Amino acid sequence: MIAKVIEYIDAHRNEYVDRLKDFLRIKSISTDPAVKAETRKAGEWVLKLLKDAGLKTEMIETPGHPSVFAHADGGKGPTVLVYGHYDVQPTGDESLWKSPPFEPTVRDGSLFARGSADDKGQAACHLFAIEAWMKTAGKLPGPVKVLIEGEEEISSPNLETVIRSNREKLACDYIVLSDTSKFNKTIPAITYGTKGLVYKEITLYGPKQDLHSGSFGGTVTNPGNALAHIIASMKDPVTNRVLIPGFYDDVLEMDDDEKGKMLGLPFDELKFREDVGVNMTNGEHGYNTVERKWVRPTLDVNGILCGFTGQGGSTIIPSKAMAKVSMRLVPNMNPRKIYQAFDETVHLLAPQGVRIEIKTFGCAAPYMCPLSSPAMKAAAAAIEAGYGVAPAFIREGGSLPILPMFKEVLGAESIMMGFCDPNCNAHGPNEFFDLDDLHKGIRSAAQFLEKMAKG
Ligand SMILES: [Zn+2]
Repeated sequence: MIAKVIEYIDAHRNEYVDRLKDFLRIKSISTDPAVKAETRKAGEWVLKLLKDAGLKTEMIETPGHPSVFAHADGGKGPTVLVYGHYDVQPTGDESLWKSPPFEPTVRDGSLFARGSADDKGQAACHLFAIEAWMKTAGKLPGPVKVLIEGEEEISSPNLETVIRSNREKLACDYIVLSDTSKFNKTIPAITYGTKGLVYKEITLYGPKQDLHSGSFGGTVTNPGNALAHIIASMKDPVTNRVLIPGFYDDVLEMDDDEKGKMLGLPFDELKFREDVGVNMTNGEHGYNTVERKWVRPTLDVNGILCGFTGQGGSTIIPSKAMAKVSMRLVPNMNPRKIYQAFDETVHLLAPQGVRIEIKTFGCAAPYMCPLSSPAMKAAAAAIEAGYGVAPAFIREGGSLPILPMFKEVLGAESIMMGFCDPNCNAHGPNEFFDLDDLHKGIRSAAQFLEKMAKG
């Protein structure tokens, strides 16, 4: 049957492009209240596609944008839940776009539009694959559910409630999503791990107002100096190891299989340096750039605000100093534990004479799907069949807090199949999705359903 499904997909290749364009014309910017009604229309577009394909569909309402739910009882095998999102990021400065963000335009084999890669185009790969199965076989090869939400770009504020209150309905064995990228332009990827995040803001308060540094310098603690000391003391200047006690205690080291796969990837260190604009890379000793990016935890200052920063000089002792510091966590670090250890360390390092205030802006767990999972193997075989190229197994330095949440509430692992270019300008101007990736993505998604059902 799969041969017929693939034949159908190949025959409808151009039609998929036109239909994706319709989806992309809908201004579903979830953060913008002015397009709230229009955002819903993108959800309705998804719902209609699935309903017309013959699935049972339903709009799950939330206080914000609704989630589209659909399901079809296929044959035997594990239940697959397709997750994606129909909302998109704002356009940013529209003058930087070569063609308007909501007028999908094909140039050099790529479809340019906001959401083309993140995530309408990639989610559509799965939707079109489901449809292709229904049109050719009249049913899906195994039990399939679909959940396409409308608030991913605003951190999914209602998704956890949707999932917790629909636990039975959404029950599944695996989640599949395409909201990550390929390894490079030619090699598709399966992302099997994401980092967690703890984001902090430290403010140190000293004198009640800025003081004359001649008259008062040396008599009180300078919050700027104190903050610099705290930040500098958190990392070893030679090894770049984070010095917060217990920071590395729960870090999961790679086994030989994983390490072999990772170090075998054709990572181009020189190109990486060129892309980020540095003449050398630097990080935790004992690890290469790929390991530092994907499997090692990090601590970074994201911003510092203190004292006089205008032109020329102003001789003051600042009354306060503030820094934003984020830590990216890897499996199996516990964000709550790191969160507390960070606060304790700041208090220990702070000199006398300042009052400390620490705020937390993010606390997300890392996620990893075992490489040995049968769904992982099915996904790899599906991509190889759909693309004609075996996927790379990669991890991701960013965070996807919904994945540990899926795991906790539904008990299901998530499989991330990446079809878009890693430089697809997601969230930036001129976002694009290659038409070839759309086609091969649909083929791979169709293959995945088949391989999951077969076991
Ligand atoms: Zn996305």
